[in-house]
Amino acid sequence: MSEERYYFQSEAAELLKMMISSVYSNKDIFLRELISNASDALDKRRIECLKDSELAENEKPEIKISADSEAKTLTVSDNGIGMTREDLIEYLGKIAKSGTKEFLKAAKDSNTQSELIGQFGVGFYSVFMVADKVEVITRKLGEQDTFRFESDGDGSYTITEAGQREECGTTVILHLRQSEEPDAKNYSDEWTIRGIIEKYSDFISWPIVLKDKTVNSRKAIWQRPDSEITEEEYKEFYKHLTHDWRDPLTHIKINAEGSTNFKGLLFIPSEAPFDLFMNPEAGGVSLYINRVFIMNDCKELIAGYLRFIRGVIDSEDLPLNISREILQDEPIIRVIRRSTQRKIFAELKKLLASDREKYIKFWTAFGRVFKEGVIQDSEHAKAILELSLFRTTNDDGWTTLAEYESRMKDGQEGIYCLSGRDNLSALKASPKLEAFTAKGYEVLLMTDPVDEVILSQAAFILPEDMKKLLNIAGSEVNAFTEEERKAGEERLKELESDFGPLKAKALEIFGDKLGDVKPSMTLTSSPACLRDSAGGMSLRMENMLRSAGQAIPVQKRTLELNASHPVVKKLIAMAKDGDERAGDVLRLLYDQSLILEGVMPEDSAEFVKRINDLMSLAMGE
Ligand code: ADP
Repeated sequence: MSEERYYFQSEAAELLKMMISSVYSNKDIFLRELISNASDALDKRRIECLKDSELAENEKPEIKISADSEAKTLTVSDNGIGMTREDLIEYLGKIAKSGTKEFLKAAKDSNTQSELIGQFGVGFYSVFMVADKVEVITRKLGEQDTFRFESDGDGSYTITEAGQREECGTTVILHLRQSEEPDAKNYSDEWTIRGIIEKYSDFISWPIVLKDKTVNSRKAIWQRPDSEITEEEYKEFYKHLTHDWRDPLTHIKINAEGSTNFKGLLFIPSEAPFDLFMNPEAGGVSLYINRVFIMNDCKELIAGYLRFIRGVIDSEDLPLNISREILQDEPIIRVIRRSTQRKIFAELKKLLASDREKYIKFWTAFGRVFKEGVIQDSEHAKAILELSLFRTTNDDGWTTLAEYESRMKDGQEGIYCLSGRDNLSALKASPKLEAFTAKGYEVLLMTDPVDEVILSQAAFILPEDMKKLLNIAGSEVNAFTEEERKAGEERLKELESDFGPLKAKALEIFGDKLGDVKPSMTLTSSPACLRDSAGGMSLRMENMLRSAGQAIPVQKRTLELNASHPVVKKLIAMAKDGDERAGDVLRLLYDQSLILEGVMPEDSAEFVKRINDLMSLAMGE
């Protein structure tokens, strides 16, 4: 029989070494990992059989566990999907899971490596915490050949052809290490094994059989009354389901009875997965029908902007042979989706009212995604905004729209908002805030890219009965009373003739970029700022679309100059006198306005040169 030796991928070898030397005290978790793999393998076999009637049905699906205290072995066996030689190399010889890669990275940066093992599910390799040799005997569904994978964790493994398996599936045999630790657990002891199964794997839906007896209750956790389930059980289930190593932030139980009956157990993770934004299609709610697992990531069950939710929906009404293709038009699915959404909103509302700290955690992890719903789901746009948290000019904390409204000044016609920068402190420094803060108005500071879209569409998508979101980036929204506005306009009129030559000069230089140049009624301390034209696109949106490869026509903006600022005063005089340097100063003011909007000047080398010339001048060179 041919034996072939292979070497673990370097990351896998590294992980193995860590497991062997691990002093992590809760070594029990290796069994949870093995049972979880066996359970997945049984799910996979069932689904393959549904798809292909030629394949052998699983007459008696189960996970068998046996311990031999004399030989010091522990065996976990399933009659699931099994593995081919290639699968063994791909799945056991390498690390595919991002979670495990993150673990390795975290473990390298930390001196509490052993604690991390418990937090991360380190998968199959965790067996090396308790075994010095592992055999895996496996046969894939629909294949004839059985293979034996063997490793003593030294960086290499062998695969041989073996003829022992009658049925497809996988048997994992651990040759337990003789521990020198005095209080080390004996994993070839039946009672120890039973205790671990009860603790970690009770909810597994396939029978876990020890000495011909099923040990797990197999009660789907979402079918059991809330009062019976401990917080610990919820956490364990969440980890089993998601392979997340952290505890969930909170869970949501759904028990819908009526025209459509279904149960659900949903979780909000405590942190965003790394691909939440890169992969807008990723979703994490599994569909079960009458306790039978149907599919992972059933996107039809949950709106795109709720894609951070993880969990299970179990329907009593759908047919077992449902296919992905017909899910979309299935009325029952639509009902489930709506009522699940309603429940999620209600739970978020409760959380917001009862545990602000937790809610802020949720919001910092997923708020950006959740807010996409304002645009995607106009029916719930108002509800989503009511559940949103915002930064404001008032302080460093978060506020809801309702809280903002309760602080609004008499006569304030709507909610003042400013977006434009990703960075909060940069946004806080915007000259556009000056007039508002000077008069004591609070302004929402919106830093997420999606805010830009929300603001630009607010007028069309938000219902009439909502306080208006007023974008202060343009010139239409200002904080003046009628009298102040009139007085300001008078003052500007007086300035008009003096300002004429400067305006002409500016339009001569920036005619392709500026639609207008005018004295500002709102700036108090900054010399200049750029305003979007009414109904025009914001600078940030324009940049976002351009960098996404869209051809955007030039958006002409207005340059506002603060006529009471010393630089502008001087500039007005220079332009009047036909002083050529006025052009340079205008260019500097234009470029600094761009920078304040988070945009690089077009010709940064010229900008730097102008600054340097000014410095030399100031230093008397
Ligand atoms: P994870 O289960 O999180 O993907 P593991 O390291 O535990 O990570 O397992 C790696 C892969 O090996 C699994 O994804 C699966 O494809 C395969 N595997 C492990 N155990 C079994 C088994 N009992 N039957 C079939 N495949 C298995």
